[in-house]
Amino acid sequence: MAERILRCPYCVLENDFRPMLRKREGWFICSKCGHRANPGLAHFTCCCKKCEELNRAASMPTHEERILKAETFLRVSRLGEI
Ligand SMILES: [Zn+2]
Ligand SMILES: [Zn+2]
Repeated sequence: MAERILRCPYCVLENDFRPMLRKREGWFICSKCGHRANPGLAHFTCCCKKCEELNRAASMPTHEERILKAETFLRVSRLGEI
């Protein structure tokens, strides 16, 4: 099985998104902001500070927030297909 790398959509490291740490089977966590992800769980919603902010702003998303959300969604679904 190929090593999966998941990147935090909120944190930037050099010119790319920061790679998240691999935890237990399937779980990833960002050591900087605490964002969690599990590509194996389609309906998992993270409750880190950044995601909460995003959800709170969901009724009135800015252009950048909408792009960020779409990015996250695309990354997760792309990884799920591997
Ligand atoms: Zn992060
Ligand atoms: Zn999060």
